[in-house]
Amino acid sequence: MRKKYIIVTGGVISGIWKGVTTAAIGFFMAEKYSVCPIKLDGYLNIDPGTMNPLEHGEVFVLADGGEVDMDFGHYERFLGIECSSLQSISMWKIYAWVLEKERRGDFLGKTVQMIPHVTDHIVERIEEVFSQSDAEICMIEVGWTVWDIEVELYLEAIRQMKRKKRQEDFLHIHLTYVPIPWGVGEQKTKPTQQSINLLQSRGLFPDIIIARGRKKLTKETREKIALFSNLRQEKIFSIPDVESIYTIPTILHKQKLDTLLHGKLNIKLYESGRLKLWEMMIWQEKKMQLKIGIIWKYTALEDSYSSVLAALEHAWYYTWTQLEIIYIDARKTQGIQVLKSCDACIIPWGFWDTGIEHMIEAVRFLRVNKIPTLGICLGLQIMIIEYARNILNIPKANSLEFNKTCAPHDVITLLDSQKNIMQLWGTMRLWKQISVVRNSEILACYEKLWRVESKKFLSEKFRHRYEVHPDFAKKLEWSSLKIVWTSKKEGIVQFIEMDTSEHPYYIGTQSHPELTTKLENPAPLFVGLLEATIRKKNNPL
Ligand code: GLN
Repeated sequence: MRKKYIIVTGGVISGIWKGVTTAAIGFFMAEKYSVCPIKLDGYLNIDPGTMNPLEHGEVFVLADGGEVDMDFGHYERFLGIECSSLQSISMWKIYAWVLEKERRGDFLGKTVQMIPHVTDHIVERIEEVFSQSDAEICMIEVGWTVWDIEVELYLEAIRQMKRKKRQEDFLHIHLTYVPIPWGVGEQKTKPTQQSINLLQSRGLFPDIIIARGRKKLTKETREKIALFSNLRQEKIFSIPDVESIYTIPTILHKQKLDTLLHGKLNIKLYESGRLKLWEMMIWQEKKMQLKIGIIWKYTALEDSYSSVLAALEHAWYYTWTQLEIIYIDARKTQGIQVLKSCDACIIPWGFWDTGIEHMIEAVRFLRVNKIPTLGICLGLQIMIIEYARNILNIPKANSLEFNKTCAPHDVITLLDSQKNIMQLWGTMRLWKQISVVRNSEILACYEKLWRVESKKFLSEKFRHRYEVHPDFAKKLEWSSLKIVWTSKKEGIVQFIEMDTSEHPYYIGTQSHPELTTKLENPAPLFVGLLEATIRKKNNPL
């Protein structure tokens, strides 16, 4: 098969599920073809690793240790693949490569310009990443929206690429937003028309338009968009607001997007067994309603915990439950009151000291009141500090991250490998394989979901600079809060759990199990949390 390219651009506003839509389109291809998603981002950071989650959303970690945009989480989950950090291209990387070439003298005698030198380089990188991946279909998501100055060069590079491809090898999908202003109650297409105009003025003429919005497009709105974009009505699609993003493939399938894609690209259309499986999992009858609290630090943006929410959603389908998620702001004091109404709680990852004392107080409540609890990364560290203060009698116990002068009570301390790091770039402790050494509740969770490789190893992604102090870890040996596995070489604590005789589910991990979750293969510790919660609800003490 000749190589195929699908480009996805966005218009009107950001935050309209462009990454999810790209992933949902890839979903139709990925069952039979190998797909290589590439994300082009306009920022001048090397990658999102140093960005505030409040500005950029979650930082996703790849198996090769790359810190990338959260959209890679959607790609991996919808396409069932693992991506490489080469697939994440930022303007920093593009400029750095071009400037390196200039110093090497590759452009000797020439005036180095945005067009053609930078644009040529963008095309070269895309082709290189695509050919290295050995995939048959390349999906290129252009970050941000048309009109953002940061993506102009990407759009120009795509225009140039398109010129050289056959029509049946190149497909351009444009995602827009159709608002319904309050008080008018009518879908308004003007912003969509304008964003299509902006594309056209850059020499780009999309083949398909997908309109996001609160409601499904009406026939009239669809006609109007078709008219202005010079497309037939069958090429205008609609994704209304939905509760679960995992229903989007079904929504697009019902409008026959998959048939159109295959026809345009001249590839064979296969009946997707995976679509049926997803539908079955999503629509099955729910047996129990659970209230799950998440104590979060990055309150202004749900995207900050995108993968935690995905892992919860996957686990609730697996356990046939329906979840009500209660967000508890770590910076506010009323957390404990809210926790009283929760059946279980998650303490997710986070950085720096905001809200930490409230989190420690909340964890104490969860431990004492035997509420099933899962601590992730920072969550594990909070569980350790709380236990040290309230059970092991070290009232000044703290993390060096929150109090630089807390030694010798730094039960959470800086990793040795982090002490001399000067450049903040992919330099946290990232992906690792973990050796399984001890029978435990945690191992039971992993084995149940077939996540233990050859009975000896499992792999999870990591992203941290601090660890349980190795001297303090020894003190836990005889306590009820057990260290389950430490990493072999470095001796870093990876998992802790409390005896089930003392607590129905009190588990912490330094890893990020939410970054490997899939709808068909949910994260074991999330499933374990919900199963323990169901058990507790069925057999109250
Ligand atoms: N801030 C902590 C550390 O760097 C926890 C990191 C996290 O939760 N990902 O170790």
